[in-house]
Amino acid sequence: MSTLEIKDLHVSVETEDGPKEILKGVTLTINGGETHAIMGPNGSGKSTLAYSIAGHPKYTVTSGTVTLDGDDVLEMSVDERARAGLFLAMQYPVEVPGVSVSNFLRTAKTAIDGEAPKLRTWVKDVNETMSRVQMDPAFAQRNVNEGFSGGEKKRHEIVQLELLNPKVAVLDETDSGLDIDALRIVSEGVNRFREQEGKGVLLITHYTRILRYIKPDQVHVFVDGRIAEQGGPELADELEANGYEKYTAASV
Ligand code: ADP
Ligand code: MG
Ligand code: MG
Repeated sequence: MSTLEIKDLHVSVETEDGPKEILKGVTLTINGGETHAIMGPNGSGKSTLAYSIAGHPKYTVTSGTVTLDGDDVLEMSVDERARAGLFLAMQYPVEVPGVSVSNFLRTAKTAIDGEAPKLRTWVKDVNETMSRVQMDPAFAQRNVNEGFSGGEKKRHEIVQLELLNPKVAVLDETDSGLDIDALRIVSEGVNRFREQEGKGVLLITHYTRILRYIKPDQVHVFVDGRIAEQGGPELADELEANGYEKYTAASV
């Protein structure tokens, strides 16, 4: 059972006109066993939150804290964050030239566990995990994200999630660019993960449709770098019906 705690987080990015504050005090606690959805209009800072938790160098935390089971995440290197049990799947996954999916997964697993997985069980695990998201085994020999379709990238994220089996998963726009079948397959993967004891999920999305498949315990609405409202799953239904207008109209 682990807890990801974000307290009064302020984050800036460097722009041509100097630093610009994007996150303006975000406070959020995800206890093990809980799934939280962050929703909000484009540009409200959702990805900035994910990148900040991931330790992306472009994002500067100017104040506030992020802890995992009391340990200071912001002090950790990107690798240390993964070893501590954080999994960050990004909205725009990068290509890794010349590295096959198979090698990438094995290297990540080895880095996190501190030892290489036993080859025979590992190959079986990879094959089973890939077949659960209906990926051809030949996919393992392709280079990471090179020429992947939107759906393949997202399925690959779920393969990573299942094989690396973190404590807390932060999933940014896992639903973007997916057709209805892929959305269901990817959602089932997230649900398999969270059905395990004590796992935390932070699901970031612009659309409500993924929340028909993955039922969040709590919904937070992001507007202009802050949480404007929070509630239970019914808040997502309300957003589906009414959109973000009532928040954005107030903030302009
Ligand atoms: P969301 O994911 O909610 O759509 P983002 O976190 O991507 O929002 O962006 C929030 C705001 O921060 C936007 O106004 C965006 O233009 C700005 N922003 C994000 N990253 C950068 C950057 N590297 N440089 C300048 N502005 C940025
Ligand atoms: Mg965006
Ligand atoms: Mg985003």
